[in-house]
Amino acid sequence: MYFDWTILLMLPGLLLGLWAQARVNSAYAKYSQVGTRSGVSAETAVSQLLRQNGAGDVAIQATSGQLTDHYDPTSNTLRLSQGVYGSSSIAALGIAAHEAGHALQKAQNYPFLSLRSLMVPVVNFGSKLSWPIFLAGILFSFEPLMYAGIIAFALVVLFSLVTLPVEFDASRRAVAMLNAGGFLTQEEETGVRKVLNAAALTYVASFVSALLQLLRLIAILNRRRR
Ligand SMILES: [Zn+2]
Repeated sequence: MYFDWTILLMLPGLLLGLWAQARVNSAYAKYSQVGTRSGVSAETAVSQLLRQNGAGDVAIQATSGQLTDHYDPTSNTLRLSQGVYGSSSIAALGIAAHEAGHALQKAQNYPFLSLRSLMVPVVNFGSKLSWPIFLAGILFSFEPLMYAGIIAFALVVLFSLVTLPVEFDASRRAVAMLNAGGFLTQEEETGVRKVLNAAALTYVASFVSALLQLLRLIAILNRRRR
């Protein structure tokens, strides 16, 4: 029986991804139940922090879902999920400040964020078409198409690599802002870091998965040439 061993390359990324997601869920479950001493809601805290850091023009809205918090650079809007927006928990403040960190990156033209935004259209193309192009190359035994598929997917890998400094920097800014604003005790800061580190791990897992998938494409190409 024929077995495609290259599929095993996907396993470590998959396991890392599941582990990271489990850590996010457990950190969120724990720290969304622990209130901060300041008692200020995440929405109030970030609107103050954004103003203090020269980004008072950022709109803040509530959005549906759990852990759907994000900053939208096109409309310069920070959207906070229901469990975060009005909450004064450690998790809520950490998550909201992380998204505010992205808003500050935009306001200050943080280079990796600009690079990431530039890459979005190319990466959308790459993630949709890399496998179809590669498979067409296999089907027609036409190597240039296989190479094209690999290059398209390499852009996806590069994108998830560029995402890492953007995410780590947003978390660093979050902790610094919250501390400077006097929103956290030392103990609360530890909780914020745990939530944000777990979230960062999911981005590391995405990068590792993408990298292994790229190696898989290269392995399939090499196998066909032998
Ligand atoms: Zn982020």
